[in-house]
Amino acid sequence: MMSSPHPSDGRLKIERIETFLVDLPTIRPHKLSVATMEGQTLMIVRLYASDGVVGVGEAATIAGLAYGPESPEGMKLAIDTYVAPVLMGCDPRRVQATMRAISAVVKGNHFAKCAVETALLDAQGKRFGLSVSELCGGRVRDALPVAWTLASGDTKRDIDEAEAMLARRRHRVFKLKIGRQSVEADVAHVAEIKKALGDRASIRVDVNMAWNETDAVRGLSGLRDAGCDMVEQPVAQIAALARLTARGILPIMADEVLQGPASAFDLAQRHAADIFAVKLLQSGGLMAAGQVGAIADAAGIGLYGGTMLEGAVSTVASAHVFASFPHLDWGTELFGPLLITEEILEEPLRYADFELAIPTGPGLGVALDEDRLNHFRRDGARRLSVVAGSAAAKGA
Ligand SMILES: [Mg+2]
Repeated sequence: MMSSPHPSDGRLKIERIETFLVDLPTIRPHKLSVATMEGQTLMIVRLYASDGVVGVGEAATIAGLAYGPESPEGMKLAIDTYVAPVLMGCDPRRVQATMRAISAVVKGNHFAKCAVETALLDAQGKRFGLSVSELCGGRVRDALPVAWTLASGDTKRDIDEAEAMLARRRHRVFKLKIGRQSVEADVAHVAEIKKALGDRASIRVDVNMAWNETDAVRGLSGLRDAGCDMVEQPVAQIAALARLTARGILPIMADEVLQGPASAFDLAQRHAADIFAVKLLQSGGLMAAGQVGAIADAAGIGLYGGTMLEGAVSTVASAHVFASFPHLDWGTELFGPLLITEEILEEPLRYADFELAIPTGPGLGVALDEDRLNHFRRDGARRLSVVAGSAAAKGA
């Protein structure tokens, strides 16, 4: 018989669910083939359990609805209207049963569900004195290599930025966002950066599906000759990805097409990628991301820890999951909090020696800075001091 998510003893339950949006500035415009981000909006969810434990979760998207089917505003609506009533009847200790109850009445909405599952696991870890990585099967590493994305749109500025990161020993793997210009211009941009950095850095590119297949064949050859190590999602279609992977010009990584365990299985079966960029939000949660990782392992596909440019909470949730992957040959890109100008944690995440240290405390192991959060909440104090429509609209 399936375990019920409903409290059997009537003692432990979720008493209150809070969701809100936080609009934060970024250190510079972040240019992708699909959009230019001028800021980032985080959707924060907090679950207050009757034992006094509070779990926190977060989700963010890339440029509102420009990248995928969910927006921060939509996630808040989905949780407030449809997920919250289910949560109110569940025993928060039964994380999987609770998520199953939610999925019975809410289809899709991977990002919103991931934020809720993050909050449940944060609470569970705090309750039992275990970090989320231990709840996810146990960590096999305490720090994760972190790539930086060069996406200023200017070659010289990107080189300067990379040099600064190398000098600070913060990043030595760089992902270049391309696909906005012609293939030739993009290849020249990559070649110039690789030439400047040489063997001191690994250079990879993310095309965000901007190429057609013939562009991609030409682009991949040019990128290989330029010294690029890997290409992320050059084209949109799975069949075309499979043909490019079979050509073996450069390792191909799947990102946008990887939408959870079922798609991971499909991609593996069709030999459509050499590497999976695993994202918790896109996978539909921490457990689902773990399943994507397991499918990749079983299929001999490499793993990379991806980001939706999340803030600190979702970034650290991702770090806990990636810390539990037996193989993580391609590292991670968990730099989201570094793209945001404002610190929202009481104690910032530690990035040093090219790695992110994974917190060891119970749950996610992080605490939110309430004053900072209140200042940047879309419905908070700052709203009164900002000209209507400017910051909030830009943040989306
Ligand atoms: Mg990508």
